[in-house]
Amino acid sequence: MLRLYNTLSKRYEEFQPLNPPQVKMYFCGPTVYDYMHIGHARAYVCADILKRYLRLRGYDVIHVQNITDIDDKIIKKANELGISWEAITEEYISDYFDMLNKLNIKVHIHPRVTYHISDIIEFISDLISRGYAYIAPSGSVYFEVDKYEDYGALSGRLNREEWRQEEEYLSEKKKPYDFALWKAAKPGEPYWEAPWGRGRPGWHIECSVMSSKYLGTQFDIHGGGQDLIFPHHENERAQSESRFATRPWVRYWFHVGYLTIKKEKMSKSLGNVIFVKDILNNVKPEVLRLWIFSAHYRTPLEFSDEGLENAKNLYGRLINAVSTLKKLIVEAKPTYYLNDDEVKLLSKLNGIREGFYESMDDDLNTPKALSYIYELTRFVFRDLESKPDQVLALRAYQMLLEFNEVLGILDKQLYGGINEEIISKLIELIVTIRQRFRDIKDYSTSDWIRSELMRLGIRLMDYKDSTKWVIEL
Ligand SMILES: [Zn+2]
Repeated sequence: MLRLYNTLSKRYEEFQPLNPPQVKMYFCGPTVYDYMHIGHARAYVCADILKRYLRLRGYDVIHVQNITDIDDKIIKKANELGISWEAITEEYISDYFDMLNKLNIKVHIHPRVTYHISDIIEFISDLISRGYAYIAPSGSVYFEVDKYEDYGALSGRLNREEWRQEEEYLSEKKKPYDFALWKAAKPGEPYWEAPWGRGRPGWHIECSVMSSKYLGTQFDIHGGGQDLIFPHHENERAQSESRFATRPWVRYWFHVGYLTIKKEKMSKSLGNVIFVKDILNNVKPEVLRLWIFSAHYRTPLEFSDEGLENAKNLYGRLINAVSTLKKLIVEAKPTYYLNDDEVKLLSKLNGIREGFYESMDDDLNTPKALSYIYELTRFVFRDLESKPDQVLALRAYQMLLEFNEVLGILDKQLYGGINEEIISKLIELIVTIRQRFRDIKDYSTSDWIRSELMRLGIRLMDYKDSTKWVIEL
């Protein structure tokens, strides 16, 4: 039975979804005003590990992760650069998708805030009419925290003094801890029309709206980085439980710890931010994933070259284990009998598998699970390679397939024939060769290469200084 730590109860709880085998999970995604940094990557990979493990356990998981594409920070950046806010968001949304792809994270639904403005207005209108929210003279709308009796329970802040937020609106809020649902537009800012005036949604309301739209008014898991507990998740909970009159709105609150550099939290204000796109110039995405896997999701993860180096070595070892097993399976003779030693080895393998599941069941103890994965590689190199046996090799291979359902770093080795990376590199090589012909004005050869590639479903597009390609199947 899987146990998860629940931020709301501050206890480990047995995981029991509302409607098994379905599991509905909402995770807070990025505000797209900059490239994805490795702290975000950690949160998204941990959400992915949770989803993958639930799937391995037989649950049917639906994973929603939003994109905040309108926000003060986006407007500020657009003004600084003198470009439109839409241009900012398109740039960083494309980075976000690119990085998720590289990290092998597949999210089912990616709702964008600006595509849900009418849903947001409807939600706020309902809160106003039920007396949970009020319209200020500026046209901004605030949630009246005193109307919700369980405020502070999620973050453990039980003293009103600790609730203060959005100090810039103190003059028009009833209480210093009320927060904005809708922000009236200042001159020159993007806005949408609402019954109470022009403006844009506050940050917290978005997640209440988009999660309920896709997952219903009660769902199983809500997650995010630890820094989102207050005020973001506290506010989401207050809004949603007030509007839907359901409690708990969310059954399990899942929060991922900080990523630290020299023991300090990575943040823009400290100037110690590392972008994923930059680190991937030197580190394979699989290694980055494995490094994140090597720490428990709730503990701080300290960034270090040594940590990445260890992950790189282990990744190499895993790839080696896969190819050794493939070879052993092909070369080994069929087995009609297991001697006593081999029976012992088979039960050793089963013990490793049990250890992996027990560790993951224990609030996703990935470092411990990883020690069992390491144990499996030791089994391959020590026990199996010296005395190949088909039964044991097949069993070990099947276990690696299972573990990789969560790890997500050995897809190419386990499933692939020729891997995609090699195919891409071969196409790039052909494109370069074609360019050489174009440089010497041998257009008949370069056109021939283009049309032959087209016949294979690879279309080339020539730009001024480069040629791009797409596979059209
Ligand atoms: Zn959120």
